[in-house]
Amino acid sequence: MTTEHITSLICTLCASRFPLHDSLLTCPTCGDSGILDVEYDMDRIGREMTAEALSRRNRDHWRYIELLPVSAEYAPPLTVGGTPIYPAPTLARTVGLETLLLKDDGQNPTASFKDRASSVGVAVARAQNQPTIACSSTGNAASSLAGMAASVGMRSVIFVPQRAPEPKLAQLAIFGATVLRVQSTYEDCFQLSMDACRHYGWYNRNCAINPHLVEGKKTAGLEIGESLGRSMPDWVAVSVGDGCTIAGIWKGLREMYQLGFADRLPRILGVQAEQAAPIAHAFRTDTPLEPCEANTLADSIAVGVPRNGHKALKALREAHGAVATVTDEEILLALKRTASLAGVFVEPAAAATVAGIERARNEGTIARGESVLAVLTGNGLKDTRSALESARMTAAGSSPILDVSPDLDAVQTLLGDPS
Ligand SMILES: *Cc1c(COP(=O)(O)O)cnc(C)c1O
Repeated sequence: MTTEHITSLICTLCASRFPLHDSLLTCPTCGDSGILDVEYDMDRIGREMTAEALSRRNRDHWRYIELLPVSAEYAPPLTVGGTPIYPAPTLARTVGLETLLLKDDGQNPTASFKDRASSVGVAVARAQNQPTIACSSTGNAASSLAGMAASVGMRSVIFVPQRAPEPKLAQLAIFGATVLRVQSTYEDCFQLSMDACRHYGWYNRNCAINPHLVEGKKTAGLEIGESLGRSMPDWVAVSVGDGCTIAGIWKGLREMYQLGFADRLPRILGVQAEQAAPIAHAFRTDTPLEPCEANTLADSIAVGVPRNGHKALKALREAHGAVATVTDEEILLALKRTASLAGVFVEPAAAATVAGIERARNEGTIARGESVLAVLTGNGLKDTRSALESARMTAAGSSPILDVSPDLDAVQTLLGDPS
């Protein structure tokens, strides 16, 4: 059992420590906002998870098993993690940088970063013999959980808000999840799922409160630390909704630094949509988190009441980080550019990261000579409507798709003579 590598769970609010226990999800003293964090025996892991040991393991994210809160025997069979990192020189120039790297997490089995968390959540639920796993989600955590649960024959119950794009609902329907579309905001949706989990005794995959899920999210940081540890970029950028992703990536980076895989730590850039930016606002003004009404087409980061805001803010401060906020128009422009200049098709929440990097360049937060890695968290097929809107917008109103009758003359009328 790899859980032997865990020393305790620590409350992120009151810093009390507890032994690892199946039924403990949040701090008994602080309640639902007392989110717990898993602590490991890093000396022991340093002796066992050596570069030599890693060189003999598969590329998926279970290669870091010592740093995960569950035994590998419960891992779902789908391949999660080990996503590629591409240089993107043309896109780099366009956003005002010399070096931009893209980590394409849309290549995970259900096409988003969330598979990192869901795979660990389903593994923990399996280890505890839980027949049903539930979550609320803006879309990707839901489709990811449904897919991971399907791969091991577990029942999943999913609460989604009104905003979820159709392709994500299609994933849910086809994976066979029980889907409850809540006639309200994500905030109400989240609360309802919490209440239902308590009522029915389902395993709660809500990343915001379940300490094991962030451990899955941190594997992106572990991968960046392992592959770029000797040439760490100056910045790692990612978009922020609830805040678990940025906190997880930072935790993973820190652990790889602590274990000696990385020579130094990058700074982190958190990107939010302008109309859904409570974490960015609290960070900039150094004031407590203030909930807001979320309004952005980037559904995956349309979060007005972040459930992991404290962890995200802590990560940003520790990392000497910075924030950027972007408009929907900037997101759509970045979506088109990331696809047409780098060949990577992303959903709006991932495009927001690229837009945020450009913002941070323009505002002088990031210097031209600094290198940046963007974690692209979701595939573009997740939201084709926004993709088409992006294509139309950047085609200056004219249709990006040319209708033509089936003859060469018609083609020539549209495209002119061969040159
Ligand atoms: C969930 C999600 C995010 C943000 O992650 P949080 O943990 O909510 O901050 C970013 N991009 C995509 C595609 C996501 O699904």
